[in-house]
Amino acid sequence: MALLDRALVRLLPAVPKPVVRRVSSRYIAGEELGDAVRVVRQLNGEGKLATIDVLGEEIASPDEARAIAGTYREVFEALERERLDSNVSVKVTALGLKLGYDLCRENLEAVVAHAAERGNFVRIDMEDASTTDDTLRLYRELRAEGHENVGIVLQARLKRTLADVAALAELRPNVRLCKGIYLEPAEIAFRDFDAVRTSFAQVLHALWDAGCYVGVATHDEWLLEEAKRGVEARELRREDYELQMLLGVRPALGVELVREGHRLRIYTPFGRHWYAYSLRRLQENPKIAGYIAADTLRVFGR
Ligand SMILES: Cc1cc2nc3c(=O)[nH]c(=O)nc-3n(C[C@H](O)[C@H](O)[C@H](O)COP(=O)(O)OP(=O)(O)OC[C@H]3O[C@@H](n4cnc5c(N)ncnc54)[C@H](O)[C@@H]3O)c2cc1C
Repeated sequence: MALLDRALVRLLPAVPKPVVRRVSSRYIAGEELGDAVRVVRQLNGEGKLATIDVLGEEIASPDEARAIAGTYREVFEALERERLDSNVSVKVTALGLKLGYDLCRENLEAVVAHAAERGNFVRIDMEDASTTDDTLRLYRELRAEGHENVGIVLQARLKRTLADVAALAELRPNVRLCKGIYLEPAEIAFRDFDAVRTSFAQVLHALWDAGCYVGVATHDEWLLEEAKRGVEARELRREDYELQMLLGVRPALGVELVREGHRLRIYTPFGRHWYAYSLRRLQENPKIAGYIAADTLRVFGR
């Protein structure tokens, strides 16, 4: 399967853009803010929360990074105007990290301040391991300045993550826990599927032991069962945690989770960089290409 996935990924740039668009349209709300608003309205109608991501990982200039920060301001305005239940997720590279730490910090602070003005919340996505230290530093600095409406993401795949939980515990961070999409070297990351699962479960319990609010972001039913058992054993109330999934991924499972009474937040990306985003994500982790190929065959086979 891994070989087939890698072959699929190599073929991707040769796939006509409209086909990639058709496939990725399940995973991306669209190009415009209006598309994201429409999708979030529908999600809210189905009893789900959302987190909006403005696609912009490929930015090349400080002006582009500032423009992304400006788009987030428009997102907060639209969410308030339309009375939608959604926060936002930001990528530090989209806010300029690769162009300069201070530029990124300025943009991130602006987004967090705009969110605070509107009673909203900003989740800082976690990208590849070359950005982990800077991302955690940005988070710490924001918290030190008194910003409370900001949270981070931790990746179970990284061997450092339990130590990061211990180091961050005094801040009681609001954390999204995910497996981690980036394939990292074996020295710093678990490669084995079961080892990543075990790490996820350990980190989840460590976060709960530290009194953190956790967004459990996974479509892995084994881990979802582990999370549900934890919620029950710890007698967490509905508002004490949330489950999170990606737009277009395992929607039937999402419906079931909502029916069971859990809060479920759907990650909803939008923006003009959808093509680069789709290719990059697939190239970062060829396994995803396999999932999508399987899903697509299922969709077209109906
Ligand atoms: C809300 C949310 C936010 C995330 N934020 C980040 C982040 O900031 N940084 C980061 O590194 N990673 C992030 N991720 C991605 C995450 O790290 C995993 O790569 C991804 O969720 C797949 O892992 P899984 O736990 O669902 O388990 P898997 O075992 O990989 O997947 C379980 C099942 O879900 C389905 N599935 C999973 N992913 C897909 C997909 N893309 N398309 C189609 N089917 C799929 C398959 O049927 C698969 O068998 C996020 C994930 C979610 C849900």
